[in-house]
Parts: sequence; structure tokens; C-alpha cells
Amino acid sequence: MKTHKTFTIITFGCQMNKSDSELMELSLLKSGFHKSDSYHSDIFIFNTCSVRKHAEDRAIAHITETRSKYKDAIIAVAGCMAQRIAHELVTEFGVNLVVGPYQSPDIGNIISHYLYNSAMNKYISQNADDFASRLDNELAHHSDELPWHKWVTISHGCENYCAYCIVPYVRGKLISFPSQQIIDYCTALIDNGIREITLLGQNVNQYGQDSGDIPFYKLLDKVASLCGLYKLNFITSHPKDFNDNILHVMNNNPVIARSIHLPLQSGSDAVLQAMNRQYTMKQYFTTIDAIHTIVPHCSVSTDLIVGFPGETDKDFEMTLNAVKTMQFDEAFTYKYSPREGTSAYLLPDTIPDNEKQRRLDILITTVREVSLKQLHNHINSTTDMIVERISKKSESEVMGKTICNHPIIIKGTIDDIGKKYTVTIVSLKGSTLYGERSA
Ligand code: SF4
Repeated sequence: MKTHKTFTIITFGCQMNKSDSELMELSLLKSGFHKSDSYHSDIFIFNTCSVRKHAEDRAIAHITETRSKYKDAIIAVAGCMAQRIAHELVTEFGVNLVVGPYQSPDIGNIISHYLYNSAMNKYISQNADDFASRLDNELAHHSDELPWHKWVTISHGCENYCAYCIVPYVRGKLISFPSQQIIDYCTALIDNGIREITLLGQNVNQYGQDSGDIPFYKLLDKVASLCGLYKLNFITSHPKDFNDNILHVMNNNPVIARSIHLPLQSGSDAVLQAMNRQYTMKQYFTTIDAIHTIVPHCSVSTDLIVGFPGETDKDFEMTLNAVKTMQFDEAFTYKYSPREGTSAYLLPDTIPDNEKQRRLDILITTVREVSLKQLHNHINSTTDMIVERISKKSESEVMGKTICNHPIIIKGTIDDIGKKYTVTIVSLKGSTLYGERSA
């Protein structure tokens, strides 16, 4: 189809959404639309997140402002919020078209169709037959923010139903993409100059359980064995599904980052049970022990929620103790926010916001102390790094990430970007490591 219509995509939320936005852009270009080089466009696509109320409020404010400024534009809302509140978006916020995560990679066709028939304005099924491919080989020719890095989605959706989480309701059931398709796609990426890959899924450790394909650790091993790759990352893991096989694959493949993100959420068994996380603290501790035994010098980061309904002072103390005992390299900390449609939404949100904030402040201080100590332990060690950009503070310095995914600064120039170096870590300033290139 030939059209002169331009589009702008505005992305909110997680890396999965950023990855889906890439697919939407490709789909729109294939359908003959043109990417606008300014915000002003004929078509606005908001790819949205529903994980926190704040994320939805921000998207709604942005949509409302765009609607009032560009009265004739087509506004499409894609992603999780479209799936969750499709009807309100159309009736209350002047949105023309809603497209859920299952159909968003087909958005070029959907918008072309809408231009002829505006009565059809909701595409929000979770029918697996509608599920468009997330591994379009044409994307292998499109670069990421970092031209040598690519996010590779290996599975979509989640069936774990953690009590606080909206994802299973908006993203639907687990769908693993065929392993051979993933391996072929990664091979094409490497042939096109990609040197770092991050395998992506809501719970990558469950990969293949729906389809009977190979388990995650075998997929990880196969991708890590591809010639030409500098670094392989994977997110997100789930403590109930993480296992020693993954660790043995990591240990045997130096190309896999020494970095595991393993969301704990709470240090209290009672709260973990109320959250339906399906593991105990004892099991989590055992996994942490296995990580440090099988993959020496591996960093571990986590997510923590404070103020889940019913969390007592004692439960919160247990979370603080878990941070101190497990010495996380990093922790992303959140105040519990009720999400309509989740099972926890039905529980009384008994902890006042000022108390949630007090707990969060204490937790952030503890996490900082622990992570600084961990960073300090890296001084005098050597690591590989890929240079990502010029340092914000000095044009004669460049910044990248260590094999443990800690930010690090070394002397360098723009010519070093995308190159891999072995460096010795020499100091820590603030929370940034500084290194020197090995001869
Ligand atoms: S594992 Fe739990 S927190 Fe993660 S996406 Fe699934 S339901 Fe949400």
C-alpha cells in the first residue's frame, strides 16, 4: 500500500515493550508508512505498560495531551494497557484504535485496515493463532540503541500468577518461540555484526515448558556456542524454576555474563506465600549458594517489594536481613501498588503510604551499603568489557560494562566504542568502577 502518512511510536515500560516497538516499526514500514522525524505525525502509537498504576497514569496523561494537540491524528494504543482497559481508552480518552500485545507486531496491517474501516477498532484477543512472529529475520538488519547489541525475545507471556502482577492477565499464557528459529535468528544477528545478545522473557527459565522444546539451559548453551559472540545475557529468571543446569552451562561458557537477575521480592516466607511466589527463603538461599559455588565471581541482582498487604515489621526486617546475608550486587526496590485485576487487589491494602515509604527508604540505604561493598570487592580483579559510549564526565574516558554487568570507566576515545577489552579494575569512585586496559 502507498501512503504518505507518518507515524511516531512512544514506548513505556519494560524491555519487552521496547522490543515489541521495534517490531511495530518494522510492520508499519512494511505497510508503507513513514517514520516521522519529529513528534508531529499523522499516526501516534503508544506502546504501554500496566505493571504499575504510575506507568498507566503517565501514558494516559501523554495520550490526553496528544489528543488535544493533534485533533485529526489517529491515536493507537498498543501493549498491556490496551489489553487491560481497551473500552475506556476508546470511549473516555479519544483513542481511535487499541491493539493488544498479541497483535501489535501486525500493527501495519491493522492501521491500513482501520484507514478503510474505522468501525473495526479493537484488536485485543489472546488467541495463540493470532500471535505474530517476534523473530522476524528482517529485524536482524535493524540496529538497537547499541549497534552491536540485540534483545532477542525467546518467550511471551507468563502463567505464574504472582499475586501482585498484572502480566499474566495482559500478556497471556507462556508461548515459547521455536528454538531453531531463535538460533537461526541469533546466527543472522552475529553475521550482521551483533556481538552482544540478551535473551528476553518474563521467566526465561520456563522456556520450552509449553511447547516441549529444549529446556532453557540447552538453548542458552546453543546460543553461547555461536561463533563471533562477545557476550550473552539473559533476563528474567524465576527462583522457582532456576536450576544448576543453567549454572553449569554458564560455567562452561565464558561468553555468558557473570550476572544473574533473580527477583526475591520479599525475605519473609509468609509474604512470599501470600505473593504466590512458589519458593521459600531456604530454597532461595540454596540457589544463591549454588550460584557462588558453580559460577565463581557471579553478580546477583534482585527485585524487592515493600508494603505488600499484611507485611509486618518483622517481615520487613527479614527482607533487610536477606539483603545483608545474600550481599546482592544490586536491588531494584519498589513500594507495593495494588493493580486492579490481580488477586492481591482483593486484599486490604493495610499499610499506609508513609509507612511503605519509610520501609523503602531504609531498604534503599541498606541496598546501597551492600552493593558498594560488593563493588569494592572487584578492585584489583580483571574483567572483559565492551565499550558502550563516551563517559558523561570526560571526553577522554569511555564507559562500558564488566562481564558482571557493572558500569566501568576506562581511558579511551570514540574509536573504542563497540570494542571488547580486558581491563584491570583499579578504583571505585561513588558507585562507578574505574579500570585500566591490560597490555
Ligand atoms: S513470574 Fe510473577 S512477577 Fe514475573 S511476570 Fe510472571 S506473574 Fe509477573
